[in-house]
Amino acid sequence: MNNTRTKRNNSNGNSFGGKKKTNGSVPHWKRDKPTSNKTTSKRPKQGGGKNKQGPSKLDPRLLVQAAKSVEKQEFRSDRLFDEMKLHPKLKANIKAKGYERPSEIQEATLDFCTEGHDVLGIAQTGTGKTGAFLIPIIDQLLHNKRPFHALIVVPTRELATQVEDEFKSLTKGLDLFSACFIGGTNINRDLYELRRASQIVIGTPGRLLDLSTRKSLDFRKFNVLVLDEYDRMLDMGFVNDIKRMIHLMANRKQTMLFSATLDVNQQDLINQILTKPKTVKVSSGEASSDNIEQDIIRMSNPKEKFKRLCEMLNHEDFEKVLIFDEAKYKVNKLSEALNKEGFKTEAIHGNKTQAARQKALDAFKAGKVKVLVATDVAARGIDVMDITHVINFQIPMTYDSYIHRIGRTGRAGKVGKAFTFVD
Ligand code: AMP
Repeated sequence: MNNTRTKRNNSNGNSFGGKKKTNGSVPHWKRDKPTSNKTTSKRPKQGGGKNKQGPSKLDPRLLVQAAKSVEKQEFRSDRLFDEMKLHPKLKANIKAKGYERPSEIQEATLDFCTEGHDVLGIAQTGTGKTGAFLIPIIDQLLHNKRPFHALIVVPTRELATQVEDEFKSLTKGLDLFSACFIGGTNINRDLYELRRASQIVIGTPGRLLDLSTRKSLDFRKFNVLVLDEYDRMLDMGFVNDIKRMIHLMANRKQTMLFSATLDVNQQDLINQILTKPKTVKVSSGEASSDNIEQDIIRMSNPKEKFKRLCEMLNHEDFEKVLIFDEAKYKVNKLSEALNKEGFKTEAIHGNKTQAARQKALDAFKAGKVKVLVATDVAARGIDVMDITHVINFQIPMTYDSYIHRIGRTGRAGKVGKAFTFVD
């Protein structure tokens, strides 16, 4: 394996990347309220994000951190997909997508997955983990095409759509089909779709179980299970749904579990789900905030908070901004208020239809709107590479949640900025 070193040194001690600023040029929205001591604390242990009620107990000192000057080792596999033992038709599609070499997580898991081992992969979105489980599944299917071969369970609708898009492009012209079953869509369409035997089914836990309860989807047919963003699913309270699905999958032969973080609290359930798993952890897989400059803004008056937010958004460096708020109605309210102030803003939360969520996401991705306001849940799995800033308008409940939120910025080797309003 070759490793080429690329040096990244972006920490210039201020809240904006690129241009250096002296203390005298600290933006006015930060000047009057000094933040607490800088800290580089490690991630504390969390109980899986179950405490959805009550005020956040998160220690604000954990939310302040300068982006570190990191010397990052860019991974470069010494294998080409072309040279790998994969079906030639699949290789052709991989090539057509422009993938030349496996990413780190793919390099580490592809052989295990192809050989049929259970796999525990610690990797975040953006590492190529979708290919890590889809490529072996497609390879298996090309050698032995069978309906309802693999079930891929993901926490959010957006992630489900992304996984299906990746599957479609990797199976172009191969006569393999997928079905995607997600909440917030018309279930009759799913029932109709189920008349056709797809090779893989992708879905969110609630809708998949709904279809199973209606006896339209038989979990016993599936041999392969993928649990993607497993920690997110636990965080969202899907633990019993996951247990139920596993119980219903009587003919499960292989399970691949991907998670961005690995909490000791999750280990018991993981041990029940996986049999002699091959554990693979990629360097970028541990939720890391090293390249994200983090700071807090102490302010509790809602009017003042909003005013400060507008000042921030007016700054030229705030090019693509993801704002988190706690509740769906608050997200709507904030988005409307920002639009009134002249900031092109979209909102995304669980009460919106899938079509509306996708439209908002597409507008944000394409840069048609500068700001996306989202609830925690709705933003999970969002794969937008060039988000410059994440703003927590409300402090999140858990550190785990915080790490996932801020992980939407600072991607693809860039330095991101994250600000959290703290009472
Ligand atoms: P994922 O982590 O699966 O969401 O993938 C992140 C991004 O990396 C997506 O845009 C993929 O299309 C891309 N990608 C996945 N695998 C590779 C690869 N082997 N080479 C280049 N790009 C890839």
